[in-house]
Amino acid sequence: MISPKLLINNKNWQRLVRSRNSGKLPHALLFHGSEGTGKEGHALELAALLNCSRITNEEPCGNCPSCIKTKSFQHGNVKLILPLPRGKIKSRDDSIEKAFSSSTLKEYWDLLKQKEDDPYFPIRLTGANTILINSIRELKHDLALSVVNNEWRIILIFQAEKLCIPSPEAAHSLLKVLEEPPEKTLFILVSSQPGTILDTIHSRCQSLYFPPISTQILQERLINSGTDPVQATVMARISYGNVRLSQELKENSTDLMEKLVLFLNACFSNDPSIWNKCIDTTARLKIKDIRQMEQLFRCAVLFFRDMLYYSATGSDDEIIYKNKMNKIDKLTKLYSDADWHSCIQHIENTQNYISRNGYLPVQIICMILDIQKSLRGEIYEPFQLSDWTPV
Ligand SMILES: [Zn+2]
Repeated sequence: MISPKLLINNKNWQRLVRSRNSGKLPHALLFHGSEGTGKEGHALELAALLNCSRITNEEPCGNCPSCIKTKSFQHGNVKLILPLPRGKIKSRDDSIEKAFSSSTLKEYWDLLKQKEDDPYFPIRLTGANTILINSIRELKHDLALSVVNNEWRIILIFQAEKLCIPSPEAAHSLLKVLEEPPEKTLFILVSSQPGTILDTIHSRCQSLYFPPISTQILQERLINSGTDPVQATVMARISYGNVRLSQELKENSTDLMEKLVLFLNACFSNDPSIWNKCIDTTARLKIKDIRQMEQLFRCAVLFFRDMLYYSATGSDDEIIYKNKMNKIDKLTKLYSDADWHSCIQHIENTQNYISRNGYLPVQIICMILDIQKSLRGEIYEPFQLSDWTPV
């Protein structure tokens, strides 16, 4: 393979290899599935396989001149199309070169370099919101030329949904060439939002679904890269099968765990100054990146899930925060009447309210008060204004 970091989806890979070996590769493929599942990495591997001169075990060798050029995005017959900024492009007849200022070009090559190192790295150029029709027009021009060395010509279209967003003009332009592709030419469209791609494009592609990566594999991958086992378990759980996200979380896992301690302290404390710290931390995360705030909530849910599991079974087999076993044991005894399931619901509801722009400080204080009621085993009843009678 050209990238040792890619987790190969064997089922999909074997299917592609069989199609290639029997000469039945379709003209166009659509790799779809959620983010961080290796779709782009597999597209690059397939592109490498088709022109590799030393295929071993039905995999591209990764070392022949063709593989090296494919991997570094310098293969003359492997064309990459993705969203670009408009730059100085004024009309659909302008050359695509006008999209690239010197700084855009530098950014582009930097991103490609990072992609070469990590198949899960997303190539996102500043100001690039759509696949320009100019890219498709240039592609058509290139396709009219003959191929060097009788090699396969592979057109990789990453973020293919951007052919149709905000307008479908690039998609319409591509349709014509998808209908009558030249010989030995393969289009690989890659998208995590296939629902936004035109039906007419869908119907010309053979779809291949890339499912989320299992929590266990993500966990093993994180542990093998030196992450603390408890942190690896938590990060794998809140990554939802997204390798890229699990990598990002790994970089911040210690920081996230510190914030979690603060969050949990507030849930179990009567001290408003500790509540304030929790509000402050959550608010900062929300401003910085709402996904990070949501990750903190998910970490807290996992902790209460541990409490629920331990109070019901008395076993530590399935406990996620194994390093907090003493605390979990103590808290279960201290709050023997607690309704741990309700605590989880309060956290999840609060996350939803805040994500939908509920006023964060009030939501957090309500959450803490509700959790503390549930810790005492009191039945949760949401406050209704109609119940309230002024004295
Ligand atoms: Zn090779």
